[in-house]
Amino acid sequence: MTSRTPSRPSVAYVLPVYNEDANIDVFHATLVEAVAARPDIDFEFVYVDDGSRDSSLERLLALREHDDRVTVVGFSRNFGHQIAVTAGLDRVEDAAAVIVMDTDLQDPPRVSLEMIEAWERGVDVVYAQRRTRKDTWLKRTTAYAFYWLLGRLASIDIPRNTGDFRLMDQRVVREVNRYREQDRFLRGIVAHVGFRQEALLFDRDSRHAGTSGYPWKKMVAFAASGIFGFSTAPLRMISRLGYLISGFSLLLALYVLGVRLFTPDQAVPGWAFLGVGMFLLSGLQLIMMGVIGSYLGRVYVEVQDRPLYSVALQARGARLAPLTRGLEGVSDRAGDLAGEGSGSLR
Ligand code: UDP
Ligand code: MG
Repeated sequence: MTSRTPSRPSVAYVLPVYNEDANIDVFHATLVEAVAARPDIDFEFVYVDDGSRDSSLERLLALREHDDRVTVVGFSRNFGHQIAVTAGLDRVEDAAAVIVMDTDLQDPPRVSLEMIEAWERGVDVVYAQRRTRKDTWLKRTTAYAFYWLLGRLASIDIPRNTGDFRLMDQRVVREVNRYREQDRFLRGIVAHVGFRQEALLFDRDSRHAGTSGYPWKKMVAFAASGIFGFSTAPLRMISRLGYLISGFSLLLALYVLGVRLFTPDQAVPGWAFLGVGMFLLSGLQLIMMGVIGSYLGRVYVEVQDRPLYSVALQARGARLAPLTRGLEGVSDRAGDLAGEGSGSLR
């Protein structure tokens, strides 16, 4: 059980690229320099070109000629950052750990080495949390507001101030890859999958060169994916509003009755029926829409077809079997998981 295969651990980088021709060479050089500090690990760099319109793809292919650890995947058109990362993740299931990072040098490569250290201590997901960020005031404020709202609405805890810069153990990557929803909010999916997750604080640099591939329209659509993908609260709001308005019609009815009883000379014929009826009917309509919404919410969850659960380990009898092939390759972690001989569950 505790046999430790001497094979070297492999760590793959998933690197989405969209119009980054001014950054790629510097980025790759910085990354290669950083990972040189860990000659004990086999590295692999999977660049996914997300339909760039500049010479990014040519530059990536040139990198590949000089560095056989580089894999290049080129999309037929721009599919978006989240899909580019997904395509990368689909191709690195065999790596013991995977690191996702941007290629504009906003995510410093040296931080990824700290992630690897945390992973070697047994953490399954190390997500980089921004201590500071050098973005515009507007971007910082909207990001704060978005995470606040998401925190209030979402069914799971999605850590604040994180991007997609994170390390995932192989077990996590395999679980994440089982989520095949079209509208992807990866940081939410990773939070949904679970496992042992830890934050690593870092200072986010500003973009090395070029412009953000996330203009406002994309940002808003992305924020909406986060909220609608992980919360049915907006649907529940419909029926709440319905109850509120129906309740109001009840109060109004009492008021009308009061006027009728105590100051009958002020009562206008027919207004009770119209006023109360208007609120009651629109309230009822909203409640019924909320009922439709509840069914729709269930249909939505079924259509998303997410895995029902993710297993972290399975202990049978006195033996404790790590569920993943290849985990044995990571000596310290395999020892951690398996315990020494007896297979104690911790
Ligand atoms: N990116 C991508 N497809 C897109 C937009 C961006 O693959 O449609 C990549 C981009 O090359 C970068 C990362 O995703 O490596 C983050 O994008 P960006 O820096 O533009 O976003 P920001 O940091 O401004 O949020
Ligand atoms: Mg960026």
